[in-house]
Formats: sequence, structure tokens, C-alpha cells
Amino acid sequence: MLNVKTSTPTTGSAEAETFNTIVIGAGFSGLYALHRLRDQMGVSARVFDIAGDVGGTWYWNRYPGARCDIESIHYSYSFSESLQQEWRWTERFAAQPEILRYLNHVADRFDLRKDIQFNTRITSLVWDEKTRLWQVSTKDGLIARAKFLIAGTGNLSVAKKPEFKGLENFKGEIYSTGSWPHEGVDFTGKRVGVIGVGASGIQVITEIAKEAAHLTVFQRTPNYAAPIGNAPMDAETERQVKAHYAEIRTKSRNSFGGLPYDQMQPSALAISAEERRRVYDERYAQGGFRLIFDSFADLLLNKEANDTVAEYIRGKIRERVTDPQIADILSPKDYPYGTKRPPLETNYYETYNRDNVTLVDIKVSPIERITEQSICTTSGEYKLDAIVLAIGFDAMTGPLMQLGIVGRNGEKLADRWANGPLTYLGITTHGFPNLFFITGPQSPGVFYNMPLAIEDHVDFATDAIQYLRDHDLDLIEPTLEAETQWVAHVYELAQHTLLPGTDSWYTGANIPGKPRSCMVYLGGAPAYRKVCAEVVDNGYTGFTLDRTVATEGIGAD
Ligand SMILES: Cc1cc2nc3c(=O)[nH]c(=O)nc-3n(C[C@H](O)[C@H](O)[C@H](O)COP(=O)(O)OP(=O)(O)OC[C@H]3O[C@@H](n4cnc5c(N)ncnc54)[C@H](O)[C@@H]3O)c2cc1C
Repeated sequence: MLNVKTSTPTTGSAEAETFNTIVIGAGFSGLYALHRLRDQMGVSARVFDIAGDVGGTWYWNRYPGARCDIESIHYSYSFSESLQQEWRWTERFAAQPEILRYLNHVADRFDLRKDIQFNTRITSLVWDEKTRLWQVSTKDGLIARAKFLIAGTGNLSVAKKPEFKGLENFKGEIYSTGSWPHEGVDFTGKRVGVIGVGASGIQVITEIAKEAAHLTVFQRTPNYAAPIGNAPMDAETERQVKAHYAEIRTKSRNSFGGLPYDQMQPSALAISAEERRRVYDERYAQGGFRLIFDSFADLLLNKEANDTVAEYIRGKIRERVTDPQIADILSPKDYPYGTKRPPLETNYYETYNRDNVTLVDIKVSPIERITEQSICTTSGEYKLDAIVLAIGFDAMTGPLMQLGIVGRNGEKLADRWANGPLTYLGITTHGFPNLFFITGPQSPGVFYNMPLAIEDHVDFATDAIQYLRDHDLDLIEPTLEAETQWVAHVYELAQHTLLPGTDSWYTGANIPGKPRSCMVYLGGAPAYRKVCAEVVDNGYTGFTLDRTVATEGIGAD
């Protein structure tokens, strides 16, 4: 029986309303979680988001060039057959405005907005042992209580803090790719500096170069970028995919990265150099993540195998960049391909052939300070009208740390995870009952087509809530033992890969002072899904399930 509760949002009051579940974040995670809880399970739910509207990543990252780099037909929800049939993508890889339109469509189609409170930053989530409820607060005080919490706060929603001396003195414009002005920015006739060449930097550099009078790119670590292969959506491909969507989604979920690719060969070292070259040429031309996720299975496992693809990309950079010295600066040499988030591009390398673009190697000549008008490196001064920060995110744990989570016995999540995240299945943590992280650290999340990863996790969390209801229980918490084993398993898997050796946001090494740790489950989506299915089928192995002693008035549903 549906028991949908849709009350008016409350603000900082002791009368704070109690919900069955509170969801934080109104991106892909939060929207699906709300639909599932409210419309499919009939429990009371409320979503909070700092943003002024839905979209998460796609609400905030409005910089020129922002687009997804998994084909949109795959980078989209699968939970509703009619939704996936009716929505039409105009490009192979949709740009940010189109993805945001899609998420707005989802919010409208499922009437989600009425249970979302926007412009609300959650700063404190405290477990109250007496009532066995989570207390949810903003800086102005308590706003709600809930039996269950779902943190749909994203992995890439907290920007890295810029640490350039004197940035505050700069008199020109300063922008950050992760919180781009809604009205857009006109760089025509301006001298622009972009700091950072990660996935966002690479997208924004290509676009700003076309508009600015001059663009100076400040690069610390060069990246291995490969062509995205974008094009208008092909009607026949769309028809084919839509005719077989269910099978394609299953195929995606049964592949390492959640993509329905099927040309993977076991080893880059098992075939001749000519054959290997042919494979790389084909995947490079096909675009998307085919070069890494549809070529050879040992690229992330074996340095020698990885060297073959790394050298292939360096060769492409040399072919595409006319000045050999610039090509050399743009070529990564000291870390394996794929051990940092692999960026995709359209004409990125050709951008450096333009007369209005300068590349500055800040590994060799670091930024010393920023003045009223310039960025000064140890080797020169660059006068600018605008600075664009594309310096990345305090990934994965950053957004969770900002929630001010306090669990049993007043223990802070920040203290418990002082040396790195400790999770069971990347979705729960010991000492913090009834709390679920969507695509949390130590899940395959960021190595798995994320809308599908999100659906898996939302389903896991909401199925657990449903299971408790069905069994007259209302508390779920992982045991310390199960968590310890999971963390050890995640670390062991990582040790068989090339990832731990690279400084990247996957390991936390991009943030000064952040403990270096293993934040991604590297066993792939199918293995992970199997483990989760077994946990559920066996009645939530590794979890303690419990019943609250009846407490009047708090049985939110
Ligand atoms: C530029 C860019 C491109 C990307 N491209 C791809 C891609 O091609 N393929 C892919 O798989 N993934 C991609 N990603 C990853 C992307 O983040 C996920 O695919 C997905 O959008 C995450 O959805 P989410 O709802 O989990 O989190 P998000 O979309 O990050 O939403 C989290 C929401 O939580 C809110 N929030 C956070 N903290 C609080 C708080 N304290 N209080 C209240 N609200 C809070 C935020 O405001 C935000 O709106 C990309 C990420 C970026 C930044």
C-alpha cells in the first residue's frame, strides 16, 4: 500500500519533521533514490541539495565544453523502460545543457521536485542512539530527522581548494569549472589563463582557445587524452539500441566498466606489434573509452602492456602537435595510462598549434604567486584578464567529510576515516547505522558507468530498507569484521594493478594532507555485483540487523 507523505519543507526548527529516509543530493543518485523510496516503496522521503535545482554534477559544471565521455545512450538511467525509450539524445556524447535538460525531464516526469528542498547545505548528520534517528542540520539548526540516510552527494562535488599565493589579490575575473556562472562567460578579446589539464581542463581549454584573444595553459602533469569521437546521434544506432535496451544494459552491467563493449583481448603483449597497432588505431578512431576499456585486459595490470598504449598515445601527440618541444611537454612520461582519470577530447592537441595559445610547464617552473594582473611562475610573468581554475576535486571522501557525520558514541566519520575510508562494500561503514553512501569510496563507482553504478547502489540501499520493513526490523550496520575484510580485499585487488603507484584523485594524492589510500574497488562491476547479490541473498551477510525497542511517535514511514 502506498503511503506517500509530501509535506512542506521545514527550516531550522525543533519541530523538525521525521522521515523514513533523507537523501542528500539531487543529482542522478538523489533523483532515483527519491523515486524509488517515495513512488515504488511508499515511504516518506525528503531530498536536500545545496544547488538551486536538480542535476548535481550537471547543475554545477556548466563550463564551455562540458560533456559526458560515456555515450549518452549508455550514460543515462535504465530504471524506466518508458523513460529510456522516450528520451532522444541529439549527440553521441551529450553536452552539459542536454544532460541537465534530461535530469530536469526526469524530475518533472516523476514529479520529484515537491519533495526536494534546494538551496540547503547539510552541515551536520548526527546519530541519536536514544531515538535511533539521524538528526539532519544546516548551520541554522536542526531541519529534519530520519531513520535512514542516503548520501547521494557525489564523488566529484567538492572542488579542490586553490593554493596559489596571492590569488585573492587578482583584480581580473576568476572562474572555477566546477561552479561555473549560470549566465555563461564571454572571453572574447580577453587574455585567459587556465590552470589544470585534467578531464575538465582539457574540455574547457579547447573551447576557450576559440574565443579568447590569448589563452595561456598552466600545466603541471600532462595527461593522456584520446579522441571522444562525438557526432550527432545516428538514427539507426538509436533505433538499434532502443530495440535492445534491456539486453544492452545487462551487457553493460556485466562488463568491467559498465559499458557494452565486447572487443577486449586478454593481453597487449600476446600479439604482434602490427596487430596491436591495428587494435589501438581502431579504438582511437572509435572514440569514447574504447582505447582503455575495449582493447586489452592487462593495460591496468602490467606495466609493459601499459607502456605499449602509453607510447601509442605519445606518438599521436607528436603527430598532432606541430612543435616537437610542445608535444614533448604535453606527453606524460612518468605514470601509466589510465592510472589517472583518462580524459577524452576533440581537437585538444591541435589547440596548441594555434597562435593564440601558450603552454607553460609549471612542473618545471611552478607558479610562485598571483598578483593583481598576472600569474607569475619561477620563469616568467603572464598578464591575464581572467583565470580559470580547473584544478580538480577533493574526490570521493571530500563531499562526505563536509556533511559533518557523527555516528554511534559521538564518533566523527572524519576521525574514523582519518587514515583513509573504511567501508563495507563501499556503501556502509561500521559505527554509522542506517547510512548508505551512493557510489562511495571502495565501491567500483568511478570505474563504472555512473548512472548504472548509482542505480545498483540505490537499489541496494532501498532494498535493504525494504527488507528491514518486511522483517519488522529497522537498523542495519556492517560488522567491523566484514568491513575489515572488505577493506583488505579492496587493497589487495589494487595491489595487482598499476593504480596505487600514481598520484591521482583515485588515491587522494591530489589533495595536500589527505591520506593516501585506496578509494576504488578495482575488481570490476560484474565481480562487485556478484558479491553484493550474495550478501543480499544470504540475508545481508556482514551486517547486523536489529529492531528498535518501540518508541512512540518516531516510527516514520
Ligand atoms: C565534468 C564532469 C564530467 C563527468 N562525466 C562523466 C561521464 O562521462 N561518465 C560518468 O560515468 N561519470 C561522469 N562524471 C561523474 C559524475 O559525477 C557522475 O556521473 C554523476 O553525475 C554523479 O551523480 P550523483 O548524483 O551521485 O552526484 P552529483 O551529481 O555530484 O550530485 C551530488 C549533489 O549533492 C549535493 N551536495 C553535496 N554535498 C551536499 C551537502 N553537504 N548538502 C546538500 N547537498 C549536497 C551537491 O550540491 C550535488 O548537487 C563526471 C563528472 C564531472 C565533474
